[in-house]
Amino acid sequence: MHPTSFHVSAPIPPRFAPRRLVPSANFLVDYPPPGERRDYPRPNLEETSSSFKIAEQLSEEIKKFPRPKEGKPTVVIAGAGLAGLSTAKYLCDAGFKPIVLEARDVLGGKVSAWQDKDGDWIETGLHIFFGAYPNMMRLFKELKIEERLQWKSHSMIFAMPGKQDAEGRQRFSRFDFPSFLPAPFNGILAILLNDEMLTWPEKIKFGIGLLPAIIQGQDYVEKQDSLSVKQWMKQQGVPDRVNDEVFIAMAKALAFIDPDQLSMTIVLTALNRFLQEKDGSKMAFLDGPPPTRLCEPMVEYIRQNGGEVHLNAPVREMMLHREFRESVVDGFRLPNGTIVQGDLYVSAMPVDLVKKVIPKRMKERWSYFDQLDELEGVPVINIHLWFDRKLTTVDHLLFSRSPLLSVYADMSTTCKGYQDDEKSMLELVFAPAKDWIGKSDEDIVAATMEELYRLFPTELSADGSKAKLVKSAVVKTPRSVYTPLPGKEAFRPDQRTPVGNFYLAGDYTKQIYLGSMEGATLSGKLCALKIAQDEQEWDGRSQAMDLIAEEEKRAGRAAEAAIKV
Ligand SMILES: Cc1cc2nc3c(=O)[nH]c(=O)nc-3n(C[C@H](O)[C@H](O)[C@H](O)COP(=O)(O)OP(=O)(O)OC[C@H]3O[C@@H](n4cnc5c(N)ncnc54)[C@H](O)[C@@H]3O)c2cc1C
Repeated sequence: MHPTSFHVSAPIPPRFAPRRLVPSANFLVDYPPPGERRDYPRPNLEETSSSFKIAEQLSEEIKKFPRPKEGKPTVVIAGAGLAGLSTAKYLCDAGFKPIVLEARDVLGGKVSAWQDKDGDWIETGLHIFFGAYPNMMRLFKELKIEERLQWKSHSMIFAMPGKQDAEGRQRFSRFDFPSFLPAPFNGILAILLNDEMLTWPEKIKFGIGLLPAIIQGQDYVEKQDSLSVKQWMKQQGVPDRVNDEVFIAMAKALAFIDPDQLSMTIVLTALNRFLQEKDGSKMAFLDGPPPTRLCEPMVEYIRQNGGEVHLNAPVREMMLHREFRESVVDGFRLPNGTIVQGDLYVSAMPVDLVKKVIPKRMKERWSYFDQLDELEGVPVINIHLWFDRKLTTVDHLLFSRSPLLSVYADMSTTCKGYQDDEKSMLELVFAPAKDWIGKSDEDIVAATMEELYRLFPTELSADGSKAKLVKSAVVKTPRSVYTPLPGKEAFRPDQRTPVGNFYLAGDYTKQIYLGSMEGATLSGKLCALKIAQDEQEWDGRSQAMDLIAEEEKRAGRAAEAAIKV
């Protein structure tokens, strides 16, 4: 199946038409009330984000590399997820010829999507872009598709299951980041203004719990990889309610697991990334399906610059060079026996699959590959529910705070490509999914509906007397992003392997953005940079990479400052 191109042209009826941005009841912030659609301008990352400037510098550095001495070396890349496509894009910029081999008939890997028999799009996952995604934002800019991101109000919105507003509808608790304050003060005020989820004594105890992070900085953050979020909370004397009210939702959204499993380093790292920049936690939706709206422009760029991208081309085996067996890759073999050869090779497959393709002899020779055995993808389920009428939702990502669900959004409101002013389409992430991944779609939808009766008390009911479910689609990903259990960060591999002409890209490889679209994009960029450095026997330093390392330290300090205040 090839995704078709997608155009957004539906007029916005008056009910959803953008309105003058007037301050809401809360005079400090601006956000649309439930039922109203409103996009916001792209944040000015060029001014507010130092990491955006570094991402920019990294792109420029890649372009300025001296061209390879002899022709364009060919790099064969397995996988057309964001990491594989990003590797290929930046290799083009560095003067190489990439050949991308994708196993499936669709681009995008974990951001892939396809159409059902009615033409409705089914996505592998509900995907949110953040202001704190500098390399992804830079990529949108380089591809000239920035207008495809629909920015929402600068808020984090949590459902309060079982609680209702004055009109009897689901109540939400908001963290709204005022635009007139710089980071980290906008985040601090957002937390201070919210008195529904945590009491003052709880906020203070949590702040005291974070004191060691404040005093010891990034080294402390990294050391917390030995503890789960729950263990850390207990050790620091933070009340259980902080975990129950905030961190269950956060852990499920960050890694599709509960806080008793998630490494505390992940939470502290995410806090760093979100708090260090004014628009770091600002969210955007892509305006349609990722394969057509994001991956196809990447493929066009690669092809225009001399590269190739092939679908339905699964790499079955890595061939080793006869003479230098464990040290040189000689080709990628496809199921029909074709061997695709190049000068260099990249795996941009997920960690669970690259483990199966790396030859045993290579594994025996190089202990570097042992670390891959420590990483494993986490199960997650993405659900689409189409209703016969419009539900009242907020034009934003919503944290469900319900036992089975993580986040959800009414895509008929939040995303132009799926716009429908008469009927809602909810996309929901079901996590943790370990106990559900083997169950039938019917069971999963039934369990989800049970949760929705509490989230939409006036609009959905078990007796079917209110809005009706017209159709559903369930996408199970048994192994998605690497599971960030305590102790796992040390096993994330560098993009450079000890095998002279073989590299890795993928969100699980070493980079500072965890298992995310930004992580995948940055991993590809770093992979391209390292290939360019090695091929041209370049012995200088990458200033951008030095800055990334510095940025990481600085991020630690910014979050510490935020916590301190
Ligand atoms: C439900 C869900 C929700 C998510 N939400 C968010 C979000 O809101 N924000 C965010 O930033 N991130 C989110 N993510 C994570 C994000 O999607 C991933 O981190 C990112 O897309 C991973 O990209 P990747 O290229 O590293 O891996 P992948 O996308 O897995 O790409 C790997 C590619 O390799 C291909 N492949 C596998 N085997 C072979 C082979 N033998 N030969 C050739 N090709 C092969 C695969 O088909 C695939 O296309 C979400 C993920 C899921 C599943």
